[in-house]
Amino acid sequence: MNFDADDATIAIRDQVEAFFQREILPRAHDWHEEMAAPDRYEASFMAGLKAKAFEQGLWNMALPRLTDDEPGTCLSNLQFAYVGEILGRLSWASEVFNCHAPDVPNMEILQMFATPEQKETYLRPLLRGESRSSFAMTEPDVASSDATNIATRIDINGEKLVINGRKWFASGAGNPNCKFIIVVGLSDPDAQRGKGHSMVIVPKNTPGLTVVRNIPVMHHVDRVSPHTELLFEDVTVPVENLLGAPGEGFLMGQARLGPARVHHCMRAIGRCEVMLRLMLERARSRTTFGKNIREYANFQDAISESRMELEQARLLVQRTAWLLDRDGNKAVRKDVSIIKIAVARAYYNIANRGVQVFGAMGLTSEAPFASALAQARAFRIYDGPDEVHSRTIFRLEERESLADKRSYSDQYLH
Ligand SMILES: Cc1cc2nc3c(=O)[nH]c(=O)nc-3n(C[C@H](O)[C@H](O)[C@H](O)COP(=O)(O)OP(=O)(O)OC[C@H]3O[C@@H](n4cnc5c(N)ncnc54)[C@H](O)[C@@H]3O)c2cc1C
Repeated sequence: MNFDADDATIAIRDQVEAFFQREILPRAHDWHEEMAAPDRYEASFMAGLKAKAFEQGLWNMALPRLTDDEPGTCLSNLQFAYVGEILGRLSWASEVFNCHAPDVPNMEILQMFATPEQKETYLRPLLRGESRSSFAMTEPDVASSDATNIATRIDINGEKLVINGRKWFASGAGNPNCKFIIVVGLSDPDAQRGKGHSMVIVPKNTPGLTVVRNIPVMHHVDRVSPHTELLFEDVTVPVENLLGAPGEGFLMGQARLGPARVHHCMRAIGRCEVMLRLMLERARSRTTFGKNIREYANFQDAISESRMELEQARLLVQRTAWLLDRDGNKAVRKDVSIIKIAVARAYYNIANRGVQVFGAMGLTSEAPFASALAQARAFRIYDGPDEVHSRTIFRLEERESLADKRSYSDQYLH
């Protein structure tokens, strides 16, 4: 792997950095103040910022399949790694560039599997940042980390699809600007394991679809992308709303999640860089028992541990992005699972140390540590819990060991 960013990557990274410093960072306080108001789903200046980013082509950079007739700048996964870190410094920065979850993975899946008509109706407005979307797989009544348990029914009745079931944690569905939901459901209960689930696009205003509530995660309701419970009662849409072929739900789901996991990791690394700097500044500014906090060995260890974890995480993520570009989604399953676990751990550890260094303030919403801690904790569950990724790593590791005809026991044991 070549660790140097190429000229094109440096140019776009510098452009994004300048935009971030000029247009986004000065509004960080305003964003928090505005979003503290109840029922606020978007800051007043968001539309203006998005228009500027769109005009400058700093748009849709997280979509490596972006075609010439789609707006924005197409970057590879590795190129986006450098940009994603900048976007991750503030929770709302990704949306300014239309690079936010869950719309990016939803756009990706639509780019790959939607019909031309579906693209026109659902993908186009997302690509232009005019609407939002959601993805509903997880269900309260079944252990959803094993996707084969998903029980919501999609009945294919001639020209119609009828959906019945309950979903939760459909991120973004409770945002008023969310116009449709990609729903995963069981369409053929008799099919072979993993081949009976399908995906269907459900407009949010379809009769029978109820937005039950936005669920607080660690006592916090995400206003922009709330984690929403949804009830489907005889929700009926035309068969043309089926995404891809019946029974291919899991196949499509896998294609959606590889790059999305890489993007989450890149953003987390950007957030960690901010936290590390804040810790250093804070320690320099405080004195206890006659010593500056920066002079204490445990603080110095906290910083050096954080830097080591962060550099390891960054290199792993860059390598995975590079492999994803070179070999495709399927070939990098193990690497994606590795970064999913490793980055969540580093993110959690660094946020946790930040809380400690900042004392009481570390637990408030006036510093980023408490929200980062909650996000890092959730990161160990969404897009697959740690244990499921660990299982993937073990299985692929064992497969490689079995495929290796040399006996290590014969060679290395005496
Ligand atoms: C902030 C957030 C956002 C989310 N966004 C979305 C979204 O947009 N759309 C969506 O559909 N879902 C979303 N989810 C849901 C998330 O993907 C699921 O919570 C996750 O897949 C786990 O499913 P579950 O909650 O049903 O847990 P379960 O499947 O009940 O698992 C519970 C626990 O069992 C253990 N476990 C499971 N399998 C194994 C194993 N093989 N070995 C050992 N232990 C195991 C793990 O400790 C696991 O945490 C989100 C979740 C969060 C927290």
